[in-house]
Amino acid sequence: MQSTNLLPIALGALLTGCSVAAQITAPPAPGNDTLAEFQRTAARFNSVVTVPTFETTPEALGSSVKTAIAQAESALSRIGRLAPSEVTFDNTVRALDDVADIIGTTDNRLDVIKQTSTNAALRDAATDQSKIIEQWAVGLDYREDVYRAIKAYADTRPALQGEDAKLLAETMRDYRRAGLDLPKPQRDEVEALRKKLSDLCTDFESNVTKAKQPVVFTKAELQGVPEDFLEQKGVQNPDGTCTVMANITWHCVTVMENARNEQTRLKLATARDSLAKEENLPLLQRILVLRDSIAHKLGYASWADYAIEIKMAKTAARAEDFLQRLATGLQPKFDAEIAEFRAMKAKDTGDPNAPFHLWDWRYYANQLKKQQYTVNEDALKVYFPYERCLRGMFAIYQRIFGLNFQQITPPYKWVDDLQLYAVSDAATGEPMGLFYLDMFPREGKYNHFANFGLIKGKLLQNGLCQRPVVALICNFPAPSAGRPSLLPHQDVVTLFHEFGHAMHAILTRARYARFSGTSVPRDFVEAPSQMLENWAWDKRVLDSFAADYRNPSKKIPAAILDQLKASKLAIEGAYYRRQLVFGLADLALHTKIHADNAAQAQPLADQIAAQTSFPEPPGTAWLAYFGHLMGYDAGYYGYAWADAIAADMATVFEKAPDGFFDRDAGRRLREEIYSKGNSRDVEVSIQKFLGRPESIQPFLKKIGVEASK
Ligand SMILES: [Zn+2]
Repeated sequence: MQSTNLLPIALGALLTGCSVAAQITAPPAPGNDTLAEFQRTAARFNSVVTVPTFETTPEALGSSVKTAIAQAESALSRIGRLAPSEVTFDNTVRALDDVADIIGTTDNRLDVIKQTSTNAALRDAATDQSKIIEQWAVGLDYREDVYRAIKAYADTRPALQGEDAKLLAETMRDYRRAGLDLPKPQRDEVEALRKKLSDLCTDFESNVTKAKQPVVFTKAELQGVPEDFLEQKGVQNPDGTCTVMANITWHCVTVMENARNEQTRLKLATARDSLAKEENLPLLQRILVLRDSIAHKLGYASWADYAIEIKMAKTAARAEDFLQRLATGLQPKFDAEIAEFRAMKAKDTGDPNAPFHLWDWRYYANQLKKQQYTVNEDALKVYFPYERCLRGMFAIYQRIFGLNFQQITPPYKWVDDLQLYAVSDAATGEPMGLFYLDMFPREGKYNHFANFGLIKGKLLQNGLCQRPVVALICNFPAPSAGRPSLLPHQDVVTLFHEFGHAMHAILTRARYARFSGTSVPRDFVEAPSQMLENWAWDKRVLDSFAADYRNPSKKIPAAILDQLKASKLAIEGAYYRRQLVFGLADLALHTKIHADNAAQAQPLADQIAAQTSFPEPPGTAWLAYFGHLMGYDAGYYGYAWADAIAADMATVFEKAPDGFFDRDAGRRLREEIYSKGNSRDVEVSIQKFLGRPESIQPFLKKIGVEASK
């Protein structure tokens, strides 16, 4: 995952990077073991490496936010005061990018404090201050003085090239998308509708968060569900029954995968798909109508076209076409998997005609895994001690990207085991950036795995290049007395994935914060990291570091790895067809629902589910609990889209002489994808990296579908 700031349009893409060529030819001596040395080396390359100053009291947080907002306000006023005769690229569009960077850097730091501080009061203060920034930023799109100055510059029709031209074009696009180029009455109307929309979306999300539904079962009804789940506090009741919470995802998954009794699965699926139904279904209808109306007022055929315009797919039609091709490509594999599941159910129930339902597939997929692929994932962990995995991954990334990582002492630690590393180019010694590692769980910490940007790379107005700083915030199993931290294989995959985001941020050469590093379209940002997940499935890669922690001469047996791959592959058809339900329904809702048919939203989604995967339990309304519709609206297709690009990009390494260790392929990834960020159209970057147009075939092949042509 790559954390993103959900600031308004003009600040939506806040990152940084640089294209200042190294002016120094002699590489400095390696071994920057202090921050000061690293910073001195950076200065020789006309770069600046800054370690963020983390606030440690609520008062300090408040004062930082005040200062940042005051700085931003005065910079905005400077732009707003410009006479049409005074406007230049630097004092308008570029100055606006600087404002976004000031606010973004502060907000990023608040975010990291909110997610990592060991002090609850400080976490709360960071959350509150973050809201202050967001509220301030809401009005930014509508600062007419700033818009007038930027437009005055655009009206001079400057002959800009490359990244500069892209910055101007996208800044103007933001304003158009906010309605600023409409006559005043319509613009006010769009602004009012957007505000209304934002309120309704907040209500929808808060209903999702609040929705709770306990479902009580007898022990007999839960036959097959692991005992350690049933015996947990909160699940086991004094009278011997068990309470399963339909709103807790892992409760649902555990029961749906293991409960033998079909009625149990149906009852839980029904409860899950009815969460927030009464409150959110009417809200969703109003939201869809509002979005449709805003899109039309802004001149788009649909909200999906509006939302996708700024993505890699660019139009709703292209996203839809991709999903349909994937659905068609998957049909034979989906049919074969379902036939196998049906046969298992027929055998289980003694009924050769037993119908197969949505609430059956997770159970039979899990049975298939257990019966045909005897992978003991727990036994695999001994091959993945955390330290070995980290060092092994470092060695691979340093090799393929041509980098050196050097551990340095952080000037400030928010937690004792925090580590800080300096990244330099191996050939020239040029400092590229810094990354923090905060890798183990603790009370009050962010509970997933993600890369958090702190400082974006960007070219400063004084000609120096500001180098990026990021933090990987993860939750690997902590080491315990006498035993190192041992990672499940999935965590090794995650490690390669998340570190890929860190590289994407650090290796940027974009000149403007807006285009820096991971500030790429959302339907692309996961693709490079998803590609890097392949490394953790490659025997040669794993053998370079994975070894039994009790006897490092023992490598992971090839047969186990093959079983693991096969068990994953065996259910990919059903998995992706289910993903397609979400993607297709999301697009359909945002292209086909208007004021006159809003009540059709749920029936339309149900029809897509029935056609693409399985019919939903009767009387339910899964859309009411589908949180992606807020914030990732008309964007769900992006998951599969990025998966397809990831598989396509992986072929470059698969075909390279040295496979996943190939330096030339790695250098191309660095040069064509990572260093460019969003400074040029990502589609161009992907094609330069591939050396050909994109193809969906590698993805279909990866998930077990034979090439159709
Ligand atoms: Zn990611």
